[in-house]
Formats: sequence, C-alpha cells, structure tokens
Amino acid sequence: MTAVIESEEHKALRSAVAALGKRYGRDYLTRTVADGKPPTELWTEAGKLGYLGVNLPEEHGGGGGGITELSIVLEELGASGSPLLMLIVSPAICGTVISRFGTEAQKRQWLPGLADGTRLMAFGITEPDAGSNSHRITTTARRDGADWLLTGRKVFISGVDIADAVLIVGRTEDARTGRLKPCLFIVPTDADGFQKRPIDMELNAAEKQFELVLDDVRLPADALVGDEDAGLLQLFAGLNPERIMTAAFAIGMGRYALAKAVEYARDRTVWKTPIGAHQAIAHPLAQAHIDLELARLMMQKAAHLYDTGDDIGAGEAANMAKYAAGEACVKAVDQAVHTLGGNGLTREFGLASLITAARVSRIAPVSREMILNYVSHQTLGLPKSY
Ligand SMILES: Cc1cc2nc3c(=O)[nH]c(=O)nc-3n(C[C@H](O)[C@H](O)[C@H](O)COP(=O)(O)OP(=O)(O)OC[C@H]3O[C@@H](n4cnc5c(N)ncnc54)[C@H](O)[C@@H]3O)c2cc1C
Repeated sequence: MTAVIESEEHKALRSAVAALGKRYGRDYLTRTVADGKPPTELWTEAGKLGYLGVNLPEEHGGGGGGITELSIVLEELGASGSPLLMLIVSPAICGTVISRFGTEAQKRQWLPGLADGTRLMAFGITEPDAGSNSHRITTTARRDGADWLLTGRKVFISGVDIADAVLIVGRTEDARTGRLKPCLFIVPTDADGFQKRPIDMELNAAEKQFELVLDDVRLPADALVGDEDAGLLQLFAGLNPERIMTAAFAIGMGRYALAKAVEYARDRTVWKTPIGAHQAIAHPLAQAHIDLELARLMMQKAAHLYDTGDDIGAGEAANMAKYAAGEACVKAVDQAVHTLGGNGLTREFGLASLITAARVSRIAPVSREMILNYVSHQTLGLPKSY
C-alpha cells in the first residue's frame, strides 16, 4: 500500500497547512473562545487557500483530492493548536454525501460554497432517545403534495449557529412495507418550524452544540439527498469520512499537547537534570508519541481504502482508526498535563482544558464501546449482547 508513505504532494500540503496553523496557533483559538465567536478568520483563510474543499470534486470548486488530503489539513491545524471542528462536518460528511449522491442541482447549489468555506452545513443524526442506537431515530418525513414535512428532535448538533443548513438524518415510510427507512434531508437553518437551543457544554471550543426541534418543517421535494431507497448506503458514505476525520482531530490535539509537554520537560529542572531526563516522565511521553503514530497509520489506511472506493474495508479501518486515535489523544493529553505539574492546571499553559476536549474523541461520533462492539461482532464474529 502506497498511502502509508506520504507522497511529496502530501508532505507539501502538510507543511503548508502547518505554516498556516502556526500563524494562528493556540492564542488565536483562546481569543476566539473567550470572545464567544467562531474561528471565522482561520476558516476564511483556509477556504481561500483551497484547504477546506481539498476533498471535493474540481468541477464544483474543490481540490479533487480525498479524505486523505482533508485529514492532513485537520491534523496539522490541530497540531498547531487551532483545529477546525467543522471540517469534520461540512466538507467531510455533507460535502462527501452531496458529491456522491446529490442531484446535479444540489451539487451546483452547495459544493462550491462548502469547498471555499463561504457556506457551511452541519450534520444531525443524534437524537435524545436514540443516542448510540441510531436505528432508533424517530425524526420522520411525510409527504404533503410535492413537499416533505419533517418532524423530530436532535441533540449535540455542532455548529448550527454558523451553518446555512443542516443535513438531517430522518426516516420516510416505505410505501410497500410501511416500515421506516433512513433518508437524508438538507434543512435550511432559517426554515419555519426549525428551532435551535445551545447546550451548555463544559468544552473550551469555538464551535457550539445545539438541541434542535423540527416541528413540521416544510421542505421542497429536492431537499431529499439522492435516492429515497438508498438512504443507508448514502449515510455510511458520510459516516466513514466522519470517523477518519475525528481520528485526524484527535491525533492533531494529541500532537499539540505532547509537543507542549516535551518542550516543558526539556527545560524544567528541579534536581540536577531537566525532568525529561527521568524515565518516569520520558517514557510515557515516548509511548504517547508511538500511540499517536500508530493511530495515524490506521487513519491513513482507512483514508486510502475510502478514497479508492472500498467502502466496506474503509468502514472497519475507520472505526479502528477513530478508536486508536481517541485513546491515543486522551492518554497524550493526560500525560502532557501531568508533565507540567501544577502548571498543567493553569490557564496560562492552556493544557487543562484539553482534558475535556480530548474526551470528545472517545465519545463522538461513535463511542469507544460501540467500536469495540463493532469489532467484536463484525470482525471477530462474536455474539451480540444487545
Ligand atoms: C462535542 C460533541 C459534538 C457532537 N457533534 C455532533 C454532531 O454534529 N452531529 C450529531 O449528530 N451528533 C453529534 N454529537 C453526538 C455524539 O455523536 C453522541 O454523543 C454519541 O454518538 C454518543 O451518543 P450519546 O451521547 O447519546 O450516548 P449513549 O448512546 O447514551 O451512550 C452512553 C454510554 O453508554 C455506552 N453504551 C451505549 N450502548 C452500549 C452498548 N450496546 N454496549 C456498550 N456500551 C454502550 C456508550 O459507549 C457511552 O459510554 C456530538 C457529541 C459531542 C460530545
């Protein structure tokens, strides 16, 4: 497999994005969070440079690359301390689903804006009464003449305040069997009957999470993405990039925290040598580095499989990459905070807030346990408990 050894082009992309990230850095993110604002300046500049839509088709304003390239963008921005969470959602999930399954009109309407960042689309699957069990979602669309009426509730939906629309996972009734099947709808955030309420999260992040209430939201026929009968396939096409991109988010954050800890451990001296000379400090940092590198290798495998059209192979690898990256990130952040002693908990050094932020990659978009379930049942063929 060639993907594990990065091409010159990929290395060039990595260093160009790293240079942009360095110009903004953690201070930029800290300021934006303190002002309660989204990271618009970084988002806009990354869009102008072509980084946000690097995975989208060239004919619709994208870079013609894949999730491999987009994951490099997110990882490097994260490693500089300024990750853009909405990259996971807008170009990776929504952009992918629309470019693979949308109508020509939907592609023309949305892809150029998603690619240059002037438009943004959130993604809503999680529901309060379904959680990890997405088979239980009840947001339902029924036909009303040529229109759809969409009703339901969603929770933890990121970036709705800055999005033009949300790609909502709902259900329609199968005319033959009467059973509900998953379908994807583009729902404008200013539609009548669409309400959002911010959730008070203990997260030091620029992007906010929302609870949504959809009360008979009237949508035109062309709000449905792709084929009503292929909803599940289309959904999975978006969920694999989401997992790969969450891995990139986690690896970037882990690298950022580790770099801070290493810098500190090289200088801080309380006995004869810097604390980094003590193996009790050095070895866990070395382990964190190894774990992050291994997670990246699995992420590259997943991205390569996805970009070469192997959706099934990519599904397993994307789950394993998300698991490995989430665990590596949580451990790297924990060890980084510990390495700084008391300073690990000060606002000045800015690492303590990553303890909560790192946990997101263990929970979302699919929890550690649900990935272990997937590998137990799908890969190992063990029986199910639920
Ligand atoms: C910061 C953040 C941003 C998010 N952004 C979005 C977004 O943009 N769009 C969106 O749709 N969703 C989003 N989510 C939601 C996220 O995908 C869910 O939180 C996640 O899928 C878990 O669902 P839940 O919170 O309902 O947990 P639950 O499903 O209630 O699970 C609770 C716990 O039980 C465990 N558990 C559940 N079932 C089993 C089982 N069968 N076996 C073993 N353990 C089990 C889980 O692993 C977990 O530890 C976001 C979440 C966060 C925290």
